[in-house]
Amino acid sequence: MEKKTKILFASSEVSPIAKVGGLADVVGSLPAELIKLGFDARVTVPKYDSIRAGELGAEKIAEIGCRFGPDIYPVAVYKARLPISNVPLYLIEEKSLLSKGPIYSTGRGGRNLLTKKFLFFCKAALESSEKIDFAPDIFHLHDWPTAPLCMMLQKAKKEGRLLETKSVLTIHNLNNQNFASFKMLAEAGLETEKNAVSPAVISRTNPEYLNLFASSLLSADTVNTVSPTYAREIYTRPFGAGLEKILKTRKQKVAGILNGIDTKYFDPSRDEFLAAKFDVKNISRRPGNKKNLQKILGLKENKSAFVCGVVTRLNEQKGIELVLEAMKKLLPEGDCQFAILGSGEDKYREMISALQKRHPKKLSFSNRYDSHLAKKIYAGSDVFLMPSKFEPCGLAQLIAMRYGSIPIVRDTGGLHDTVANYDEKNGRGFTFKNFTFESFYKSLKTARRLFYSRKLWGGLQARAMKADFSWSRSAKFYQRLYRQTLLEK
Ligand code: ADP
Repeated sequence: MEKKTKILFASSEVSPIAKVGGLADVVGSLPAELIKLGFDARVTVPKYDSIRAGELGAEKIAEIGCRFGPDIYPVAVYKARLPISNVPLYLIEEKSLLSKGPIYSTGRGGRNLLTKKFLFFCKAALESSEKIDFAPDIFHLHDWPTAPLCMMLQKAKKEGRLLETKSVLTIHNLNNQNFASFKMLAEAGLETEKNAVSPAVISRTNPEYLNLFASSLLSADTVNTVSPTYAREIYTRPFGAGLEKILKTRKQKVAGILNGIDTKYFDPSRDEFLAAKFDVKNISRRPGNKKNLQKILGLKENKSAFVCGVVTRLNEQKGIELVLEAMKKLLPEGDCQFAILGSGEDKYREMISALQKRHPKKLSFSNRYDSHLAKKIYAGSDVFLMPSKFEPCGLAQLIAMRYGSIPIVRDTGGLHDTVANYDEKNGRGFTFKNFTFESFYKSLKTARRLFYSRKLWGGLQARAMKADFSWSRSAKFYQRLYRQTLLEK
């Protein structure tokens, strides 16, 4: 029997057990699709205190000591399975540094402690892979938290270990970066001479610090990102987040592979959290979700209201200021309603809360993370707003379309690759070019006008719901990427 290629996803998040954003969705769903293609794909994440390991069938399989600086930390490795997909999962436990608190909590130790947390995780994941029953051919790494594992892999090779193992680094979002001091790097086993590294990876504000993402982009065997358009955009200033020059040195190699979604988990015809299950053939059942959404959120129960849904992290990237301006304009007049679910920056929370107080029957704001309510909003809203400043791929618009909510999106990154404007062939949403209120508002007004044209809207919904955003297509591109990576010297 042919030997299966072993892929180990090392990640800070994995859906549904440790999720902050879309990265978790990808790590939670792509491995299962790779297994269907004949890979032996597994996942490793920190064993955060919030993970109910017992429910995942976790069993301790190894104990190691992991050195960081002068100290050796006891690490336990548990083997478990991801819920639903059954993908094998390794949970790495270290009680003082790794497992405590929320995923990206900086706690009292600030950013330095967060950096240490994930450098430690990378080191423990790499070292434990040499002790357990799974020696990966490829470490698949995700964003700055696990990117440094590729530097550690290079170092191991210099020591004659893991000579055949390769690394693939996926950029989910370049804007999240983190810095480590040269001292901390040495503690992590990555002794680095300052004048031996490219000046492009040294912090501009403090020359004692190195940019972990930047440096890893130079070390990974293969780098890719999560949509073809973002893969083109990242070489330019507005999108490169200061890493454009470094990325250009790898230009030939950065592939753009569109993310998929887990179509079993996001399936309106079977979704237990919906008031009324539906599919494209039974779309007449969908309004039951709108009615229910209005009821549970305290919005005025009105069939013909134009309900705008938003499920998001509240930050600048997501264009929240454009949504705020649109609400200010639309709430006082007519029958527009807004169902907003999101957590993030305080300034946005305060502004949305203030508006909600003025218009409680037209604006509902749930300031939390709530995957069940998210599904109710996808299924009960008429349109889904995503006016992002930049968007590496975006999963929320894909989920919205699957649930028949028509996306209104800025024409950028993965939004460009997945949403065609209503008047184009395969139109299934509304797009606008400039990141300005005027552009966004024009799109929103057009959508609102066309919403009352039943036939046109029905066509949009059918095309949105029928679009195939499953992983089956994209997983084949990863298959090719892994093959190329393994062939390269
Ligand atoms: P990003 O990764 O930049 O946050 P994506 O659109 O790629 O954006 O993915 C966001 C994912 O997180 C989607 O699955 C979305 O439903 C989910 N999500 C975002 N905010 C919330 C929230 N407050 N409650 C529940 N789910 C959320």
